[in-house]
Amino acid sequence: MLSRSRLGLLLAGALACGCTPRRDAALAASASARASTTAPAAATTPAPPAPPREYVIVVSEDGLRPDVIDPVRTPNHVALMRQGVTARLARTIHESDTLPSHAAMLSGFEAKDHGLWWNSLKTGRGFIHVPTIFSIAKEHGLSTAMFIGKPKLRHIALPGSVDHLERPGYFCATVVRRAAEYFVSDKPNLMFVHFSDPDEFGHSDGWMSPAYLTGVEHSDRCLGTLLHAVDESGIADRTVVIVTADHGGHGHAHSDSREEVDREIPWIVRGPGVGKGQILDQTVVTVDTAATVLGMLKLPLPAHMAGHPRLN
Ligand SMILES: [Zn+2]
Repeated sequence: MLSRSRLGLLLAGALACGCTPRRDAALAASASARASTTAPAAATTPAPPAPPREYVIVVSEDGLRPDVIDPVRTPNHVALMRQGVTARLARTIHESDTLPSHAAMLSGFEAKDHGLWWNSLKTGRGFIHVPTIFSIAKEHGLSTAMFIGKPKLRHIALPGSVDHLERPGYFCATVVRRAAEYFVSDKPNLMFVHFSDPDEFGHSDGWMSPAYLTGVEHSDRCLGTLLHAVDESGIADRTVVIVTADHGGHGHAHSDSREEVDREIPWIVRGPGVGKGQILDQTVVTVDTAATVLGMLKLPLPAHMAGHPRLN
C-alpha cells in the first residue's frame, strides 16, 4: 500500500498537468485528510476480502484529453480517481480515429488485425474481424450491452455478441440517461457507454477552446449521472468502472500520429479490489483496456491479443 504522504503527492501529481497550484494544493490536502481519517482502522483491522467483480462498465468519452481533468472542471472524474487507480500515461493506437481506436479498446487488437481501419458507418463492410470483449463475455454466459452516441460503433458489435445495443441520441445527456436506467433495471455484466460531447466541440471550435471545455464539463456531468446510478444500483460493490477515451486532439482534429496530444487518453479504474487513489506508473495502451476487462471478469484472453491486463 502507498503511504499517506505518498498518496497525497501522487494524486496531486496526477492532476498537475491540468491544475493550477491552488488546485493541486487543495487536492493534496483533501487526499491527506481523507487518508489520515481512515489509516487507524486499516492499521488495527484486517481488510475484508473484496467482493467478486461481476459487472464491468467501460465509459469512453470521445476526444477527452487527460490534461483537462481537474477538480473544478471535472469533479466527478477527480472523485473517481480518488476512489480508484489512474494511469499516469495512457495512449491509443497509432490510428487515433474514433472507429479504429474504439475497436482496439474493445477487442485488444491493433487495427491491422481488427480490420476496422476506416472511420464511418459502412454497413456493407460488416463487422470487426476478431473476438471482442462482448463476444467472449457472451460465449461464457454473461450479459452485454452497448449505449453509443455514434452509429459507426455498430461495426464493433459482432452479431449475437451484444444483448442490447442502443443509440438513444448523439450527446451524452441522452445516452447516459438510458444507460443508467438500463444498468439499474437489467444489470448487464458488461456495458459500454460512449459520450460524444468533447469530440463534437473539439472539431467545431478546437480542442481546449471554451466550447470544448464546456463539452468536457457536460461529459463530466454525464459521468456523474452514471456513477450515481451505479452507486444506487445495489451492486456497486461488485462493479468495476473504467473511464477512458478514444483519442485526444489539437486544433480541430485528432488524427496526426506525430502529435502526442492526439494519442494521449485518460485511463481510470474503480472497483472491488482496486487500489484507491493510486497511480499506475506503467504506460497503458488502449488495447490493454480489453485485456483488463477480460481479466476482471475472469474470462480468457484470445490468442495473439496485443493488450495486457493492467490490474490484477
Ligand atoms: Zn473519436
